[in-house]
Amino acid sequence: MNSILSIDVYTSPLQTLPESVGGWFSPTTSTLLTGPTEAVLVDTQYLQNDVNEVIRRIESSGSRLTTIFVTHAHADHYFGIETLLERFRGARAVALPSVVAAIRATNEAQRKQWRAWFGERAVDNTVVPEPLNGDTIWVDGQELKVIEIGQADIAPSAIVWVPSLRAVVAGDAIYNGVNPFLAAAGPDEWPKWIEGVDTIAALQPRIVVAGHKNPEAADDDLDATITYTRDYLRAFMAELPASSDSRDLVSRMRSRFPDKINPSALVLSAVTAWKRENNNRD
Ligand SMILES: [Zn+2]
Repeated sequence: MNSILSIDVYTSPLQTLPESVGGWFSPTTSTLLTGPTEAVLVDTQYLQNDVNEVIRRIESSGSRLTTIFVTHAHADHYFGIETLLERFRGARAVALPSVVAAIRATNEAQRKQWRAWFGERAVDNTVVPEPLNGDTIWVDGQELKVIEIGQADIAPSAIVWVPSLRAVVAGDAIYNGVNPFLAAAGPDEWPKWIEGVDTIAALQPRIVVAGHKNPEAADDDLDATITYTRDYLRAFMAELPASSDSRDLVSRMRSRFPDKINPSALVLSAVTAWKRENNNRD
């Protein structure tokens, strides 16, 4: 199908976290949807270098940035909005009303955490997006549909469906080549996350942009996005009760998914899940 829209996905490099925290932070995507005269950005990056690269791509597109859409209330996806809105004065930042409320409630805590993790390399953010009216964002007369997903790595979360490209910009409902972050949800939420993955699959997309991906990974490989995320969640739910402790859980998951980057996300997911198990038994 021919579309007047084009899609440009920027994936930031893997980041090393400070020694006090340990591990890494997964490569994060920002997606630019561009028509002949207008552009919409989904998710913003959070390090100055990466926000600069997003700005460079918006400028070189030649189209006017009208809207920044934020999929969910995690700083890696929205912290760039203040910097971007200063640069692109006519643009507005929007999110689901529930995501706006979550950002309002957690932005100060995330500012502190981001400062501790990345220091001056991270941009600061004091801006809260506006609530999106309805579920449609327009780019040169083409519609982008915002769909609330019951659960992704956190709830509330949204995806953006671009019918003319058969593309889903999935935020952290989908991972690609990267260990997903399961530590902000639990056994009651993971099945809902799988339902969210199924919602995306039912759209029959051709392209699925994961919120976090291996920079080498393709966005049009549905096995690597939809199937992988669903399989990983199911495997984690099956291996958790079968494992003897968090280390065992990590090694079981590593043997099932040996080549995925950022194993520190898996360690955090496993440690948090086992902490919850132990609390339930006490
Ligand atoms: Zn994220």
